[in-house]
Amino acid sequence: MEFRDLKAQYNKYKHEIDAAIEGVLKRGVFIGGEEVETLEEELKAYLGVKHCITCANGTEAMTLLMMAWDIKKGDAVFVPDFTFFSTGEIVSFVGATPVFVDVDRNTFNIDVQKLEETIIRTFNEGKLNPRAIIPVDLFGLPANFPEIEKIAKKYNLIVLEDGAQGFGGSIEDKKACSFGDAATTSFFPAKPLGCYGDGGGIFTDNDELAELVRSYKVHGKGESKYDNVRIGVNSRLDTIQAAILLVKLKIFIQHELDDVNRIARWYSERLKGVVDVPVIPNGYKSSFAQYTIKLKDSITREALQQKLSDKGIPSLVYYQKPMHRQIAFLDLACVDINFPISNELSNIVLSLPMHPYLQEEEVDFICNIIKNSTKV
Ligand SMILES: *Cc1c(COP(=O)(O)O)cnc(C)c1O
Repeated sequence: MEFRDLKAQYNKYKHEIDAAIEGVLKRGVFIGGEEVETLEEELKAYLGVKHCITCANGTEAMTLLMMAWDIKKGDAVFVPDFTFFSTGEIVSFVGATPVFVDVDRNTFNIDVQKLEETIIRTFNEGKLNPRAIIPVDLFGLPANFPEIEKIAKKYNLIVLEDGAQGFGGSIEDKKACSFGDAATTSFFPAKPLGCYGDGGGIFTDNDELAELVRSYKVHGKGESKYDNVRIGVNSRLDTIQAAILLVKLKIFIQHELDDVNRIARWYSERLKGVVDVPVIPNGYKSSFAQYTIKLKDSITREALQQKLSDKGIPSLVYYQKPMHRQIAFLDLACVDINFPISNELSNIVLSLPMHPYLQEEEVDFICNIIKNSTKV
């Protein structure tokens, strides 16, 4: 069994995907071109945002926003402690300081009460200039944007939604990747909407910001690529990836998002009362980038992982190490006791196989192993 079966998807849509790639090969335009433009239009329409700017990957999408907002040395950016490294890395990369915030045990997302406390503490210390918050839609569940946006307004902070895992989720009628001042996503193959290589996107309603990002991603271009008004980078989604994403976006909307939600229900119906299953708050929809359960302790988790592996079932621990314990952030001198939840989660979480092509019998098989394993 595969953790995320990309081959099953390819086999089902081989004809469309091959034709899309062949179309690009025949036209001979490999950078930019109509596929990239059409994809940006379709993503905008799906998310209900004014601007979509594709780029090289999800990390660079966030870096480009840091550059456009001129976030720099001396600035503080609030980041959940339990996330992929990238979310904090891009803050340090531009010279600013990531200030980590513990997460909510149920949703895995940034704890809004601790967020406000941390913002107040940072203002009071007076060493850093608070600038932005980067909530992450962890495992596909949107962060608590209604509360986060209130806090951001109160303290005059920018909000960047890290929607790398969030594409397809929503709160009421508002889609993930449309929250905050700007949002980003990743098209890494294993993300909810993935291509066959690297890719990323930036989404915003802000005209000025969009204009700046479009300049930064093409060497700080002015009138053209050869008129350079600022120091930028080279960051683009290539044409073949855009062509693949056009096919994949269609099937994602047609059935894949519903499929993963149905599979999550299958899991939860079978595992409720056996282990802690994901909590989806009222009005929220997840795109289930991961289906993550919580075990009693790390010993129970290890034993279960072994039993699953013995039966050929892959499972993964996202994340082994909270941000504040990463060696790369050692110089921030974070206080370990400020992160009880993310410390605990790193010991007890386990992500199970999850993708739109998982069969009910496979879910049964996995759940039976878990039921038998946790009995002893
Ligand atoms: C995958 C991921 C990223 C980075 O995306 P890339 O396209 O791999 O650069 C950023 N944030 C989170 C939460 C992610 O899961």
